[in-house]
Amino acid sequence: MELTPSQIVEFLDHHVVGQEDAKRQLAVAVHTHYRKLGLARDQGLELVKSNVLLVGPTGTGKTLLCETLSKVLAVPFVTANATSLAQSEYVNEEIEAILTRLIDKVGGELGRAQRGIVFIDEIDKLKAPAEAGGARTPAGERVQHALLKFMEGAPVKLSTGGHFDTTETLFICGGAFSGIDEILSQTHTFGFIATGEDDNQKILDRLNARIKPTDLFRYGLIPEFAGRLPIVARLKPLSREMMVRIMTEPQNALYKQFRAIFAADGVELTIAPQVLEQIADLAMEYKAGARSLRGIFEEMLMPALYLVPDHPEVKQVVFTSLFDEPRYLGGGSS
Ligand code: ADP
Repeated sequence: MELTPSQIVEFLDHHVVGQEDAKRQLAVAVHTHYRKLGLARDQGLELVKSNVLLVGPTGTGKTLLCETLSKVLAVPFVTANATSLAQSEYVNEEIEAILTRLIDKVGGELGRAQRGIVFIDEIDKLKAPAEAGGARTPAGERVQHALLKFMEGAPVKLSTGGHFDTTETLFICGGAFSGIDEILSQTHTFGFIATGEDDNQKILDRLNARIKPTDLFRYGLIPEFAGRLPIVARLKPLSREMMVRIMTEPQNALYKQFRAIFAADGVELTIAPQVLEQIADLAMEYKAGARSLRGIFEEMLMPALYLVPDHPEVKQVVFTSLFDEPRYLGGGSS
């Protein structure tokens, strides 16, 4: 069954909070990707693959989006890190290992593995420090040349025997690209339209906000590589309100998870809304997106998680402040 972009977005909505633009762009990209594959198969059309670049601060859902996408498409998913690829002497072997992980994820079924999703993070960290001697190609560039080969759909010879054909594999690259907005404001290509019509200005603003391959050169991306990432989706920094929603709304939101854990001991966990806001505020200070939420959450719950299993008379645990002990209530009382 083939899903439409809006059906894909609907599924993503169950797991990823906000990031509407990125969801739509990814859904369209994926839908187009599989359409192209179908056309290539049925009509022998040769279609150039469009890989996707996700630009957004750390901890805002890039990996989660890709992983959720793989779930809705029922294809395997692996992540890799461009920085560690650049540190390796054997980039091709490393990439081969990534593809092997895809195969392992589906119990050795090569055909299914080839339709998987590979997410390569920190693609903005490939800028080479000026290398001593300078005769060698900088590591970041070597990585890009190696990745290009794979992304273009060349069959990869596996050391375990056989070939991995990446024609159908979807490569998604990600990075924070910090400072990109300043670069965009310096490279505006489209000027003011003198008609003064708001709609025109909006279209111009959107065009100017688009990340162009040339904007990526400053992060060390070489033209061939940047040109291979025509679809750029941006993720927004998380607001406090989004952080609160992340703790409560997704299918496996932290609050839901811990309510279930307490419920298994016959205890109802209640965390007051203002506590969730306190957690969100603290997480914002850590500047790691939603990544800090779990740690803060677990630390707050720790005393209760420790106490409750020894006290079967406790039926309710209520948090009213991040900085105070919870209230423990027995059955019947409230
Ligand atoms: P990155 O953008 O660095 O790839 P991740 O996707 O790995 O970030 O997110 C880090 C953590 O924060 C994960 O546990 C993820 O579930 C959570 N998270 C981040 N952004 C969102 C979001 N928009 N919706 C729901 N959870 C999110």
